Amino acid sequence: MKILKTALYVLLIFIFSHTAFLQISAASQKSGDENIRITLLYDNYKHAPNTQVGFGFACLVEINSKMILFDTGSEPDILINNAKALNKDLKRVTIVVISHNHFDHTGSLLKVLDIADTLTVYLPQSFKDTYDARKAIETGSQVVFVKASTQISENCYSTGELGGDIKEQSLILDSKYGLVVIAGCAHPGITNIIKTAKEILEKEVYLVMGGFHLVEHPLGFQQEIVSEVKSLGVKKCGPSHCSGNLESFKQTFGSNYIKMGTGQVVEIKGH
Ligand SMILES: [Zn+2]
Ligand SMILES: [Zn+2]
Repeated sequence: MKILKTALYVLLIFIFSHTAFLQISAASQKSGDENIRITLLYDNYKHAPNTQVGFGFACLVEINSKMILFDTGSEPDILINNAKALNKDLKRVTIVVISHNHFDHTGSLLKVLDIADTLTVYLPQSFKDTYDARKAIETGSQVVFVKASTQISENCYSTGELGGDIKEQSLILDSKYGLVVIAGCAHPGITNIIKTAKEILEKEVYLVMGGFHLVEHPLGFQQEIVSEVKSLGVKKCGPSHCSGNLESFKQTFGSNYIKMGTGQVVEIKGH
């Protein structure tokens, strides 16, 4: 009798897990890319030994066969070195999105404009009168100044320009598991960015990553923000760049904390 009960229990678990898997697969048919790969090219933290660290942030998003560079870090030599070390050809990048007008995010933009063949550059509206914006236009790139939330390519969106004194846009990827939000420095506040992403696409956030701009705040405030990020329903969290005390993130997110750093690759696979 005990054996029968155990067999029934195992069968029920199998049916339940199989059903859950089928539901996830079915959901992916409607929206969200099957496979997304995000490679950190520039960060304050090191992950892969053959990469260099630098103050700033840049990541390469591969989605629906497109290569999108989000931010460029500060020093071009480091960006180029890391792209080579990680086998990423910057020539193949067709879209660049710049989060905000701070050197640790814009420093290698002109170099990328030189390297890539054809580029569409998404700059915050507040960037309009800058030297970098004029250069981008001069090089023949298509420049889009972003004010409101906008679609950048299939399954990829900008939150639009958020914040007060320092205006900033963040990237939203529509994955089959939910939204992936990537922030450059999060000057408008990481919780504000997450709420905006949820409102725009009316979906839950699966992963939030990038710079959360907590480094200048006292530890107590940082912990409050980490708890709020969690209470907004965010499943996984990968803080880096200017995110401050990473320990509070590790403790709050446990196994759903993702270690960032140059050379880290976050893959969201369909199967
Ligand atoms: Zn900044
Ligand atoms: Zn920054």
